Amino acid sequence: MELPWAEPYKIKMTEEIFTSSREEREKWIEEAGFNLFNLSSDKVYIDLLTDSGTGSMSDKQWAEMMLGDESYAGSQSYLKLQKVIQDTLGFPYFLPTHQGRAAENILFSALLKEGMVVPGNSHFDTTKGHIEFRKAHAIDCTIEEAFDIDDLHPFKGNIDLNKLEEVYKTHSKEQIPLCLITVTCNSSGGQPVSMENIKAVKELSDQYGIPVFFDAARFAENAYFIKEREANYKDKSIKEIVKEMFSYGAGFTMSAKKDGLVNIGGLLAMRDEELFRTCGNFGIIYEGYITYGGLAGRDLGALAQGLMESTEYPYLQARIHQVEYLGKKLMEYGIPVQQPIGGHAVFVDALKFLPNVPRAEYPAQTLGIELYKEGGVRGVEIGTLLADRDPETREDRFPKLELLRLAIPRKVYSYKHMDYIAAALKNVYERRNEIRSGYEIVWEPEILRHFTVKLKKK
Ligand SMILES: *Cc1c(COP(=O)(O)O)cnc(C)c1O
Repeated sequence: MELPWAEPYKIKMTEEIFTSSREEREKWIEEAGFNLFNLSSDKVYIDLLTDSGTGSMSDKQWAEMMLGDESYAGSQSYLKLQKVIQDTLGFPYFLPTHQGRAAENILFSALLKEGMVVPGNSHFDTTKGHIEFRKAHAIDCTIEEAFDIDDLHPFKGNIDLNKLEEVYKTHSKEQIPLCLITVTCNSSGGQPVSMENIKAVKELSDQYGIPVFFDAARFAENAYFIKEREANYKDKSIKEIVKEMFSYGAGFTMSAKKDGLVNIGGLLAMRDEELFRTCGNFGIIYEGYITYGGLAGRDLGALAQGLMESTEYPYLQARIHQVEYLGKKLMEYGIPVQQPIGGHAVFVDALKFLPNVPRAEYPAQTLGIELYKEGGVRGVEIGTLLADRDPETREDRFPKLELLRLAIPRKVYSYKHMDYIAAALKNVYERRNEIRSGYEIVWEPEILRHFTVKLKKK
């Protein structure tokens, strides 16, 4: 018999998680204004709110925490990170930042002005927030296949070159400071972008003189999908694929809380020395000196080690198979999920799951609340609440998909936990026809409302 693959690690430390009763959860979620972000973690049994900063670190990363060099300038931990960014990711210049959004803030402070546009594939919410805060526009050029959850296109994060060229033709070069490729594409379901597409976007952008940047939070998971699904890359190592991918970019922003395998941190990398200097000035006022950028030396060391580990095939194989396992289990139960299953999360189609809940009553949020009440499992709405209001008309923007995201933290939960999640969702699915109403907003902030919005039952 052929030996199956298994995790390339064993577990050295465990952490208690808390069970609760349905009655307790019903009370807690009401007190939380029906916003899952408002629940304290001891009220959650399995936490799939995000895969951001929620992973477990390896013993070698913890060793880096002890070895952290806390020198203000020229820290040895910084030099370790510099070596990985230069040798493994292939960029000569970088700034550490406290998170991905801080890297976005610096890059957009340097490049983006009112009225400009940033084309890309379904920009991440904080990215869009930073763009719109500067009165500029994010233009989504994702391929149409991404919006059909049953379409089995292997690279649903791809950019539609016709849509992109349309943006290039209808704007001047000065209006488009960059094109942003998000790998993997979080907002369209953790879906990868093919190397072929990255190359084509780079070629097209070169013709119009537009630099290509990556939002690289899940760059390693994207590289895994390229290896698995793109014939020419099957025999290449993840590190080779990563290097080629990044070779087409002028730089990247990265939330290191994803494939950096750390609990906090971000990066901004670039090829251009002058851009590095400009960004360095913003980095110093917003984040800290250019060699630490809001992080401790120990954080930089753990990140250097994390980037080396997340670009190893056996780790990625175990990671992505666990997510796929959950997705397949849900499909076995007949639950409508985004296909193919993405890299870091399973996305449940709330419009198909809860057809009786009106669109204006936030079906994906409603489903998230039902799943929490059922089993203490916390997912997150990727739908109308997240899409926010149109900045000009202040009307709700209804995105093409209304999804409940179940994000799987890295190296944290077991396969039994996956079975539990699937069973909880199956129970909700069995009583889906009884769920006929959702929620309405009681209070919301100006932007990024999903984090703090308060709701009541409709
Ligand atoms: C998480 C994330 C960000 C923002 O990073 P933070 O570290 O949360 O500030 C940006 N883009 C993508 C694709 C992300 O997943």
